[in-house]
Amino acid sequence: MAEQTFIMIKPDGVQRGLVGEIISRFEKKGFYLKGLKLITVDRPFAERHYSDLSAKPFFNGLVEYIISGPVVAMVWEGKGVVATGRKLIGATNPLASEPGTIRGDFAIDIGRNVIHGSDSVESATKEIALWFPEGPANWQSSLHSWIYE
Ligand code: UDP
Ligand code: MG
Repeated sequence: MAEQTFIMIKPDGVQRGLVGEIISRFEKKGFYLKGLKLITVDRPFAERHYSDLSAKPFFNGLVEYIISGPVVAMVWEGKGVVATGRKLIGATNPLASEPGTIRGDFAIDIGRNVIHGSDSVESATKEIALWFPEGPANWQSSLHSWIYE
């Protein structure tokens, strides 16, 4: 199966009306949308998603942020989508994110950085299983051979 990543537009991205812009960037790059839902998660779920960071001093604030409103959870598919997805997103601290990246263009503070993307293929597998227990959608783009040689 082609590589997949988990991308989440955080509550600030939803509130600020950035959903369409962000989806558009992944679409235009050539990645395929394989899962999409608007969902408000509870504290235990957010803690599970960020369990690797539970010892960090910002963990509680991060969980509060993620449960503060609906998020858009997505699965995107394509060659190298995990690493390239992180490039489209930009550095964790938006002040260090290059212009042209999502965080570089749309965010300022690290605790309001608009979007999450899996950091490895292994995390992507875990995060997709957590957020999409029903599994991603199964469809093929008719444009495939115009994007891949
Ligand atoms: N975060 C924060 N303060 C920090 C580091 C991270 O509030 O000092 C938040 C930020 O929203 C970040 C999330 O915690 O996106 C997860 O941190 P991670 O290091 O995994 O960054 P990411 O993978 O999102 O770039
Ligand atoms: Mg991370």
